[in-house]
Amino acid sequence: MSHNDGSESTYRLYDRALESLVGGVNSPVRADPRPTPAFVEHGDGAHVVDTDGNRYLDYIMGYGPLLLGHDLPEPVHEAVTETVTDGPMYGIPTEVEVELAEFIIDHVDSVDRLRFVNSGTEATAAAVRLARGHTDRNKIVVMQGGYHGGHESFLVDGDVEERSPSSAGVPPAFVDETIPVPFNDEAAIRDVFERHGSEIAAVLTEPLLGNHGIVLPVEGYHETLRDLCDDYGSLLIFDEVITGFRVGGLECAQGKYNVEPDLTTFAKVIGGGFPVGAIGGRAEIMQAFTPTGSVFESGTFNGHPVTMVAGLETLRFAKEHDVYTHVNELGERLRAGLQDIVEDHAPEYTVAGTDSMFKLLFTREAPETMAGHCTAGCKQRPDCPRFELSPKTGADVAAGKTDRWKRIFWPAMADRDVLLTPNQFESQFVSYAHTEADIERTLEAYQDVLSQSN
Ligand SMILES: *Cc1c(COP(=O)(O)O)cnc(C)c1O
Repeated sequence: MSHNDGSESTYRLYDRALESLVGGVNSPVRADPRPTPAFVEHGDGAHVVDTDGNRYLDYIMGYGPLLLGHDLPEPVHEAVTETVTDGPMYGIPTEVEVELAEFIIDHVDSVDRLRFVNSGTEATAAAVRLARGHTDRNKIVVMQGGYHGGHESFLVDGDVEERSPSSAGVPPAFVDETIPVPFNDEAAIRDVFERHGSEIAAVLTEPLLGNHGIVLPVEGYHETLRDLCDDYGSLLIFDEVITGFRVGGLECAQGKYNVEPDLTTFAKVIGGGFPVGAIGGRAEIMQAFTPTGSVFESGTFNGHPVTMVAGLETLRFAKEHDVYTHVNELGERLRAGLQDIVEDHAPEYTVAGTDSMFKLLFTREAPETMAGHCTAGCKQRPDCPRFELSPKTGADVAAGKTDRWKRIFWPAMADRDVLLTPNQFESQFVSYAHTEADIERTLEAYQDVLSQSN
């Protein structure tokens, strides 16, 4: 029975979409769910309803932006509506761009200038150009399994010895200039700096790998990156597109881990559900962007008033309503519950995540005992019995049972009306709209599915 009499069934819509959109979708991960991707009819708090009328508890949450869930709280809704009514955009500055910049600068220590763009990809591409312009060097170091969006500089696989493009259409020149290293591997990054230090414009990393199963930093890793960048005159860029104003609350992940990057990229949460990106950092570096400097950056929609007001009111709401306490407590409860479940059922799993991010990784090996483990998800504690077996790099996550996750586990959870991100690598998010009852129901579904598939 269709929820909305006017909407077509998911099957028919997908059939139509295949004739007008590449692969029926506008971003490849959305094609993952089988047999057909669901088409959303509407969102409702922590839930989405598809065009067949199925109501799912949603942990995709737009892949990160929807900190508050699917309903814009009243002040956000009102501000967005008012701004749209005034006129959608101008190409002339507005006050709200300044206000959102001031809010971010007030809460993130390393940032005292910003440039707003329209996506995380734009932000990381511009940050790398800025680092190259500032240092007059070309090479960048990234993490294997890190994600910075779809730009040529980041579509490179391999290591310091041998590399190749990870997509067709990437010229070899980009492959020469981008060096991937394994996350959490101090020896590997030291080796790269010893060989190429004077050519490295920047190290670009997510504070935690948030698009590859969720891998937290081992203690000391960020400090090593910071020290190496300082020693060699390279910039440290934190890509906080997914962690910004989610992990570490208003201080972001750099506050939580107490590291000060030279540049930070933001997106997702700071747009309140609208397309956004931003580059932030010390004024002395940021002023190298045009018009004050000579690193070109420009955009018709940069600082779009509707996005700016949605982001600003979302962040203000988060600050005034204990949003982070709520989502982090539920996240902790969820990870702790998952830990109990995998302890009962099969230990070859790693509970990953922090704050409001979570993922159950289908790793392959189990320690002898679960005694002494972190209680609400892997924290990369060196004295944990699981430490050696817990994923520390993107490759460790990819070595898990990713097919079983996608083909057996995901559909079984969807059958129980729990909508997870459709593969082993994409993070899942708890929003302000999720409740304790939602978490209990989710844990029951995990318990049910994992005990059946053992
Ligand atoms: C999502 C994401 C991006 C890309 O952002 P888009 O807005 O999708 O272009 C870049 N970096 C990280 C860490 C992300 O999570």
